[in-house]
Amino acid sequence: MRQLNLHAAEDLRTDEVPMPKPGPRDMVMKVAACGICGTDLTLLRHGPATADPMPLGHEAAGVVLSHGSDVAGLNDGMRVVINPMSTKAVIGCGGPEGAFADYVLVREAEIGRSVFPIPEGISFAAAALAEPLAVARHGVERADPRPHHKVVLFGAGPIGLGAVVWLRRRGVTDLVVVDLNDHRLARAKALGAAHVLNPTDVRLDAALKDIFGAARNAIGEDAVDADIYMDMAGAPTIPNQVVTMAKQNAKLVVTASYRVPVELDFHKLLKSEMIITSAIGYPHELAAVMAEIAEMPDELEIMISHRFDFGEIQMAFDVARSLDCAKVMVEFAA
Ligand SMILES: [Zn+2]
Repeated sequence: MRQLNLHAAEDLRTDEVPMPKPGPRDMVMKVAACGICGTDLTLLRHGPATADPMPLGHEAAGVVLSHGSDVAGLNDGMRVVINPMSTKAVIGCGGPEGAFADYVLVREAEIGRSVFPIPEGISFAAAALAEPLAVARHGVERADPRPHHKVVLFGAGPIGLGAVVWLRRRGVTDLVVVDLNDHRLARAKALGAAHVLNPTDVRLDAALKDIFGAARNAIGEDAVDADIYMDMAGAPTIPNQVVTMAKQNAKLVVTASYRVPVELDFHKLLKSEMIITSAIGYPHELAAVMAEIAEMPDELEIMISHRFDFGEIQMAFDVARSLDCAKVMVEFAA
């Protein structure tokens, strides 16, 4: 079978590897769709952590091909999504398995933990969004917005777009999405963001004041009347921009993965008495995502911008890197 391996930085190859054999507690999934993630792009730039080729692909949906005798509740032929974090060696992110492959081994398969059935009416490609949607949902849960909150969301990539979906479902209507890419902003708007801003065109604090109005920081200085800022972009200028314009008690949730330390003006932070926190991964959100995913088929389609066959995977990665895209989905012929 074919499997995509990262051999070194900028060196992705589709290799021929033996079919996986499930142990008594494992299952093998025939992959139908797997999304390209920002993590895949970061790994491609920096190369694998060890000298061994590293299988990629962790946002996968497919069909149960076979399973071990000790796995309860799974039937061969069942349509499922996998939880790549369910094994100690994460699938497609350092472990021996990756889902950019015709088949993937899921160790210690367990329904509701490592494997989730796909609801009827939801395509494999749409179901493969479950993982980024879970990351986005965890970010939104950490922000804990109320319907009346005014929210500024930085970053309209797949995680940011997922956050738009969850914020709207939580009843948030005053939502501004900020991104440098107009293609991504158009999708945020289609998902229900009331306003979108490209900071190359506008002065961000002035534009946000126009939309949300002005408020005060803790010492009475002029500030933007936004309750919550969500950083799903990871541009090093964002944290300081936020502490500079934040009103008293505003909240910043960082979901973006910063590769380098960021300097923060603590004098400005002092004046806002704001809360800064972070959100990583999806400790408990995947089950909730799978329970609600059937209610959002239209949103899921908007989140997918490109589809490629597995045979075109190099091209798929090129498009994902261009940023003129939302989720780039890789599909496997049945
Ligand atoms: Zn991912």
